[in-house]
Amino acid sequence: MTATFTRRAVLTTAAACAIASRGAPPSIAASGETKVTLLGTKGGPRVNKGRANPSSLVTAAGRSYVVDCGYGVTRQLVEAGVEAHQVRTILITHNHSDHMLELGPLVYNAWAGGLREPIDVWGPPPIGRAMAGFLDSLGYDIDIRMEDEGRPDLRKLVRVHEVEAADTPTAVFARDGVKVSAVKVRHPPITHAYAWRFDAPDRSIVLSGDTTYSPELIALARGADVLVHEVMHLGGLDRLLARNPNAPTLRKHLLDSHTTTEQLGRVAAEAGVRTLVLSHFVPGDDPAITDAMWTEDIAKTFAGEIVVGRDLMTV
Ligand SMILES: [Zn+2]
Ligand SMILES: [Zn+2]
Repeated sequence: MTATFTRRAVLTTAAACAIASRGAPPSIAASGETKVTLLGTKGGPRVNKGRANPSSLVTAAGRSYVVDCGYGVTRQLVEAGVEAHQVRTILITHNHSDHMLELGPLVYNAWAGGLREPIDVWGPPPIGRAMAGFLDSLGYDIDIRMEDEGRPDLRKLVRVHEVEAADTPTAVFARDGVKVSAVKVRHPPITHAYAWRFDAPDRSIVLSGDTTYSPELIALARGADVLVHEVMHLGGLDRLLARNPNAPTLRKHLLDSHTTTEQLGRVAAEAGVRTLVLSHFVPGDDPAITDAMWTEDIAKTFAGEIVVGRDLMTV
């Protein structure tokens, strides 16, 4: 592979990345400088009307951090007021396609939009192989545009850092006073599924990625201001399964690997977070499940603020 590829690399480049906040997305909670914008809130790889596939944007110390790259992430970023070439850091939670299908295209779109500085990708293995394969598939176009348009070599701008997260929260990198940590969560059969935490001077934000009830996630999220967590509604499961006739063991995967509303209340309470933001809805395309139904079980055990996430909502 030609992309720069390091294992547990320490990041040294401090490329400026001020976010132009044109077209501000709706804010539903007062927030300081550090905030999270939900770009896509529907769990799973299926594409349809309504919620976009999973991705989020954390803004801290004037920088934008994209967490997960579900299909449509570039378009959702633009809708949130951030051009692809303004992104310098991407974090991936795990290698299910609904979290990284558009990783390569986002990096490419950044390059097409004027990227001249390195772009760092942090995530679990085999994210390096996925990125290398994507760049290889675009080799013809990259070569043509380098020669014809004078663009820099995209393959040399992409720096992939495959992270081996532990079962206890571990700092991965820090920049501009923002510490970024990860922990391994429980999302079988995937062995390398991570949650990410951002600690800025004014606020702490945790993103669960995909996980069933995980004590490791609770440890990472302990005392956080905001926990963005995946959620599954058992009542909608049968209808969801009927829409996926080619996946006979999907029910078992969902029950083994995701967090029910009842479990999520316990997670948020045990972690002691201030605000719980629901995202990665499973099912994410069932209008029969109202906001009140999403929060009903959670509120039985969690007394903090509960936000039912929507695409382009900022918390
Ligand atoms: Zn997912
Ligand atoms: Zn997953």
